[in-house]
Amino acid sequence: QLLVRGYLRDIGQHVRNAQRAINEMEDVAVFCETEPHVDDLPGAKALVVTHGRILFDDVTFGYAGAAEPLYDRFSLEIGAGEKIGLVGVSGAGKSTFVKLLQRLYDLDGGRILIDGQDIAKVSQASLRRAIGLVPQDPALFHRSIADNIAYGRPDATPAAIAKAAALAHADIFVDRLPNGYRTLVGERGVKLSGGERQRVAIARAILAATPILVLDEATSSLDSLSEALIRDAIDHLSAGRTTIVVAHRLSTVQRLDRILVFEAGRVVEEGAHKDLVVKPGGVYRRLFETQSAPAFSDASETRQQIHG
Ligand code: ADP
Ligand code: MG
Repeated sequence: QLLVRGYLRDIGQHVRNAQRAINEMEDVAVFCETEPHVDDLPGAKALVVTHGRILFDDVTFGYAGAAEPLYDRFSLEIGAGEKIGLVGVSGAGKSTFVKLLQRLYDLDGGRILIDGQDIAKVSQASLRRAIGLVPQDPALFHRSIADNIAYGRPDATPAAIAKAAALAHADIFVDRLPNGYRTLVGERGVKLSGGERQRVAIARAILAATPILVLDEATSSLDSLSEALIRDAIDHLSAGRTTIVVAHRLSTVQRLDRILVFEAGRVVEEGAHKDLVVKPGGVYRRLFETQSAPAFSDASETRQQIHG
């Protein structure tokens, strides 16, 4: 009888291992999506990020089948630790800019350098480790909140996870979940709102502490409370890192160092908010006037409202 019990325990262990393997395959599938295939050069070296300086050097790129390239001999430098906002109408080329930086596509001409190293020549694994990404509409894994925040940092302690969550203002809703950080979320778990999922993704990026950060701001679906929290979370996240924020609301970019206004794959205006907003006849100024500026609430006020 003891022997049978031993066998059953072994079988149970195998089933759990198989389940874990399946979960991991699901995670990978979420990441792969449908991006085109880009190869490492033979013997590609790892990217070494020393400062986080980014250079688009005479970049030409068009999507397959397009009549004209979207980017035509485009050059741009982003300084170490600089915080950049990308704005412009839909289709202007903002998302493509961050896709090219992640080398999701190869260029038709020119180079993209990070700290002097051509991203087409370094290993893609090392490039991915250098660039943290907070997507517009993050998907969560069917795991606990803690696992979702610690994704990519399995060694993170519960204290470190809680600290990252607090900086990202994710603690507000986590504290209300039935099992706190152990609550299962994702497809078959507790459903979180878009703003909550983005705060989990920000907490994950805070823990991952990559030298370069790309954040695609969540769009209209956010209520103004979430907006104030996310704006403050971005401030925590971007401290000391080269940060690129694709912004849909101008309120998000106002505090960044430099705003780039994109139009059809070109930067038609750039500068700090305070300079762009007073520029006579400027594109940014016009955008600003049409987006009726909402009254800014600050994050601590917002937290009180939510708790109250
Ligand atoms: P934005 O993020 O500013 O809205 P995008 O970079 O997504 O702009 O798109 C720039 C242009 O490239 C648009 O004309 C868009 O239709 C086109 N485009 C974007 N992604 C693809 C793709 N995968 N295949 C073909 N064309 C694309
Ligand atoms: Mg876009």
